[in-house]
Amino acid sequence: MIKVDRNKSYDEVDTAKDVLKREKEKLRRSYNQPEVLEALKLIFNRKCYICENKKITSYNIEHLRPHKDQNMDLKFDWDNLFLVCGHCNNIKSYRYENILDCTEVDVDELIAFRKEGNFAWDEHIEIKSIVNSTEVDETVDLLKKVYNGTTAMKKMEAVNIKKELRNEIVKFMNVINEYWDAEGEDKEDAKYLILRELKPSSAFAAFKRWIIRDNREILSEFLEEDSIKIKL
Ligand SMILES: [Zn+2]
Repeated sequence: MIKVDRNKSYDEVDTAKDVLKREKEKLRRSYNQPEVLEALKLIFNRKCYICENKKITSYNIEHLRPHKDQNMDLKFDWDNLFLVCGHCNNIKSYRYENILDCTEVDVDELIAFRKEGNFAWDEHIEIKSIVNSTEVDETVDLLKKVYNGTTAMKKMEAVNIKKELRNEIVKFMNVINEYWDAEGEDKEDAKYLILRELKPSSAFAAFKRWIIRDNREILSEFLEEDSIKIKL
């Protein structure tokens, strides 16, 4: 989970807000409209805001604060609508009331994201809170369930997410190796590629940022980049 800029201006967002306003007034109303989904895809970079997977087969519109089919303000509020994959939406459901709002806070500065081991060699996901707060604890709990699965079916879905995560990390490590070996112009090119991988639009960016943090002695220049603002 990584901070997403919700204030980017797109015509599609204005259209989505108008559609939501109109729908809210109707007797048979639904927030699940194509215009809303299109605008959310733009804001969330076609990425599930919870697991950060971009290879999504089923997009869902999720409510950050559960509406429980009672609170129409929450149900039709544009700022409460988030883009998720079916797997994460199903696990979160109405159960989490107080998770961090990734459009407000830098989640990767409050929670550490690591993939340890490899394949059969004790591969596991480590999600750790680095500050004390109920919101952070609740978010960590949700993320652990998402990456490890809950039921037998959810565990299978989590394996697919972890496979994508593994691919992305391998790709990222290759660029880091390239950067480490290169000189001059080649190094600048590799640096550009690393910065692109650290952007909010990149798949599993929180994990990639933590690789930089965990290797701060040799990759310190990326912690100082204003464009990505990685803080320790
Ligand atoms: Zn997801």
